[in-house]
Amino acid sequence: MMVLNRSYALSTQEGYSGYGAEQGEKPLRAAIASTFYKDLGIEEGDIFVSDGAKCDISRLQIVFGSNVTMAVQDPSYPAYVDSSVIMGQTGEFQKDAEKYGKIEYMRCTAENGFFPDLSTVARTDIIFFCSPNNPTGAAATREQLTRLVQFAKDNGSIIVYDSAYALYISDDNPRSIFEIPGAKEVAIETSSFSKYAGFTGVRLGWTVIPKELLFSDGFPVAKDFNRIVCTCFNGASNISQAGGLACLSPEGFKAVHEVIGFYKENTDIIVETFNSLGFKVYGGKNAPYVWVQFPGRSSWDVFSEILKKTHVVTTPGSGFGPGGEGFIRVSAFGHRGNVLEACKRFKHLYK
Ligand SMILES: *Cc1c(COP(=O)(O)O)cnc(C)c1O
Repeated sequence: MMVLNRSYALSTQEGYSGYGAEQGEKPLRAAIASTFYKDLGIEEGDIFVSDGAKCDISRLQIVFGSNVTMAVQDPSYPAYVDSSVIMGQTGEFQKDAEKYGKIEYMRCTAENGFFPDLSTVARTDIIFFCSPNNPTGAAATREQLTRLVQFAKDNGSIIVYDSAYALYISDDNPRSIFEIPGAKEVAIETSSFSKYAGFTGVRLGWTVIPKELLFSDGFPVAKDFNRIVCTCFNGASNISQAGGLACLSPEGFKAVHEVIGFYKENTDIIVETFNSLGFKVYGGKNAPYVWVQFPGRSSWDVFSEILKKTHVVTTPGSGFGPGGEGFIRVSAFGHRGNVLEACKRFKHLYK
């Protein structure tokens, strides 16, 4: 493993490595392409390795600039809306939404199966879409994603598809937006080692920008992104990249699946607990998150009640957007003993 040797041999003349390619080490880009995008027409050159998906979301926002409109699932991972607000793509607080842009909240509820009714969604330049979704745990079906791609095509929109939890999918829903025919002309995909290999602190992710994705003037989006990456970023740490490459080796990828399997068992324990207490429970099946409904109650009140009475930290649903009100998100990322103890306390509190 050439990359690994260079990383630990910094003190030697042969082993020293300086700046690497801003887009990432070739072997890692190739391994990401063949592991996650086999037979989907995505090549090594379409992959940009990064220090994480969240960072890439912000770099994509720099590419798009402030003069665009964007849509998000409601509820969704807060980085999409927050980076848009920072860029000045705000709507709610702007007097002149036409001029300054506005954020379109695509309501995802239990009633619509956590997939937005696109007939009511306004046209935007950018559509952030996360599947499986954080926080609801819902994974979009092939048919739903086909509609989303068509919607983007009809509107001349770019989809930024966040697949950070794709390996958690247990049914046959798509793991990548590029499984949908025509998606390469309308979509970017961003993903991460954070939830696959416990790399939250190591920092490693990637973004796929197909050559086929063009701005309306015919200029490739990948070329602009490349410029931003070379200007604002100097590539992911080669130590992290060596770790990522190891994760995609046959033994490494087996370990990744084992870790995910462990968290999915945690998820089952949490789902069963809330089910047995009579709650309406969503998610869990295709994601490490369980989305529990507390009808008519404020998310923050439920969060506080659980914190005070059980000393367990959950996440109030309203933190993910107005559509998350009345829910809490329970994460399966924890030691088995802690998950079992938390569930015991939930049973005591809500029996
Ligand atoms: C955790 C998470 C990420 C990962 O971000 P990193 O910066 O790679 O750690 C991306 N998207 C979603 C929806 C997440 O929940």
